[in-house]
Amino acid sequence: MNEPKRYLVTSALPYANGPLHIGHLAGAYLSADIFVRYLRLMGKDVVYIGGSDEHGAAITIRAKKEGITPREIIDKYHTLFEDTFRRIGISYDKYHRTSEPIHHETSQEFFRKLYDKGEFVEQTTEQYFDESAKQFLADRYIIGTCPKCNHTEAYGDQCENCGSTLSPTDLIEPRSTLSGNKPVLKTTTHWYLPLDKYEAWLREWVETGVVDGEKQHEPNAWKNHVLGQCKSWLDGGLQPRAMTRDLSWGVDVPQEIPGAEGKKLYVWMDAPIGYISSTKQWAADNGKDWKPYWQDKDTALVHFIGKDNIVFHCLIFPAILKAAGDYILPVNVPANQFMNLEGRKISTSKNWAVWVHEYVQEFEGREDELRYNMIKNMPENRDSEFTWKGYQETNNNELVNNLGNFINRVLVLTNKYYGGVVPAIDQRQRINSSLAPEESASYKEELRVLYEGLRNVSVNIKKYEFRAALTALMEISSKGNQLLQFNEPWKRQKTEPEDVKVVMNLGVQIVAALSVACRPFLPFTSDKLRTMLNLPAIEEQGELQAILEKLEQNEAIVPEGHQIGKGAYLFERIKDDVIDAQIAKLEAANAANAGVEYEAVKDTIQFDDFSKLDLRTGKIIAAEKMKKAKKLLKLTVDLGFEERTVVSGIAEFFKPEDIIGQEIVLVANLAPRKLRGVESQGMILMAENEKGELGFVSPPKDWVTGFTVR
Ligand SMILES: [Zn+2]
Repeated sequence: MNEPKRYLVTSALPYANGPLHIGHLAGAYLSADIFVRYLRLMGKDVVYIGGSDEHGAAITIRAKKEGITPREIIDKYHTLFEDTFRRIGISYDKYHRTSEPIHHETSQEFFRKLYDKGEFVEQTTEQYFDESAKQFLADRYIIGTCPKCNHTEAYGDQCENCGSTLSPTDLIEPRSTLSGNKPVLKTTTHWYLPLDKYEAWLREWVETGVVDGEKQHEPNAWKNHVLGQCKSWLDGGLQPRAMTRDLSWGVDVPQEIPGAEGKKLYVWMDAPIGYISSTKQWAADNGKDWKPYWQDKDTALVHFIGKDNIVFHCLIFPAILKAAGDYILPVNVPANQFMNLEGRKISTSKNWAVWVHEYVQEFEGREDELRYNMIKNMPENRDSEFTWKGYQETNNNELVNNLGNFINRVLVLTNKYYGGVVPAIDQRQRINSSLAPEESASYKEELRVLYEGLRNVSVNIKKYEFRAALTALMEISSKGNQLLQFNEPWKRQKTEPEDVKVVMNLGVQIVAALSVACRPFLPFTSDKLRTMLNLPAIEEQGELQAILEKLEQNEAIVPEGHQIGKGAYLFERIKDDVIDAQIAKLEAANAANAGVEYEAVKDTIQFDDFSKLDLRTGKIIAAEKMKKAKKLLKLTVDLGFEERTVVSGIAEFFKPEDIIGQEIVLVANLAPRKLRGVESQGMILMAENEKGELGFVSPPKDWVTGFTVR
């Protein structure tokens, strides 16, 4: 395939009903930002598009809960998103919103086109309806138990616990999120996209990259987990999917279509079209034509998303684009997996998250420190984890000790030895190589090492391997540090000044290269470096391409005689108390939220079933460890009228000596059974918390034992 003429890059539209956390950032935003900044630095024609997703049931539900209008909700979060993205350096060309008229018009045009072409299948089905709220319950209006993982709070469209995509009728014991009531089934008519009809070409396109007889992408350039998810959907057989909903908030189905009244577009139909309407707005704002970016085959369309959106971007949206005709399909959908936090899944509802808008406030000026850690831990191919300790370590060990230290040494020494003027050198002079202390190298050979380093960053970004690209970037800095260490200018400045000039001139070249190459990852650092070097600010218009061309010709980037500015530390050490405070904050928010996963209540039993149980108050009067049984204790329980021997699986939680005198409740009529040769005559009631810890269920203190619990 030829080099694309232009790129259209998108990041998933964040849903406007809650703030952004680091998992979002690591999923769909940093990756896209690295990619587009790199393309711009290579002088490519690229447009980076995004916006807020402002429709769908969750927004009206949230508005109802907070007692405000949906409009107030979306305005609040759209403003917050825009501000947060800007402050963390996500460099959108257009950040738009789906509540804008241009978006409503664009998605209605799509709907009309598909309707007119006869692509939709009209179907009347029974759907859940809440009689008290007088409303159909699609998507997030309905919750119930997930049929795949038994999570009791699965939504009508998706289970957030296992990631399965669901239909409301898949849910076990469904209930309305509006009233909590059990819904009834009622008929309604909707327009369905017959995905089953498109299955053959979708499969060919995903698996071979060929569409309409033309090779459009290289499937082995797609990530394995993306291909895997697509294949599992295709193998499962695609079903027609409703593209409309009975809702009050969203894009109206075009009113001239019979039966359109009260119907809105399915949010997953309108949201991806948001990429197109956002591009239209960008074009209008900049006097450009949006069409080539979406319709010209020389354009590479790339969607950056999280893994929960794969099916929508790899199957459903492509199906919509192709059914509409004239549109290109994505050449790649480099979806990331999920990022966990301190050993647990990030959870918005449980407030187990690091919120990006809070970070940029509390750590103002340290945006790149977070970006660095996120990119280093980016969940490119598997889930990854953020920890505050890890954040501290990457900052202190890598940014401060490696990158910051190298740059500072070059700037300080150049100022000290030459008044900040890049020294003129004799290119015949050989110095110690930055690759190995016992080898020598010429100035040109060292420029070549720098060139190769930059190429390595470049190659990895093109492959969407951003972690590897960041490692390659840091290797350039490591080699810079080695150049200084192996040549020791601080020792040799007096005795071998000509060698030192070569070393320091190279040092400046490396710092200048880093000021450009670090930009996709660390844009704020890039700006600071340009000022320190007294070089023009970067416009992201081919600067990396320009230095690669120079280095390829063995030419220096910064000319001899250039006056640089003063050095300063780019990064500061993060102390323990800063990290401890963040961990404490996380724990406190979590405790306040009592982030507990509750087990589902078991099937209903009748009173008669319950009354068969004989529960008695009792007291443990003796306890000992069982031989060869790590978990078991042998207890003697006084029931007042008799003593019982009970074997209990609590040895991991209690020492025998600590529980003598403990008052308990015993299931006194449980059939005896032998455990490790000892007959257990009853069972002690224990409560188990979310961490799996056990605690005794006990009667009021100092009660006489043996009485019934009912
Ligand atoms: Zn599930």
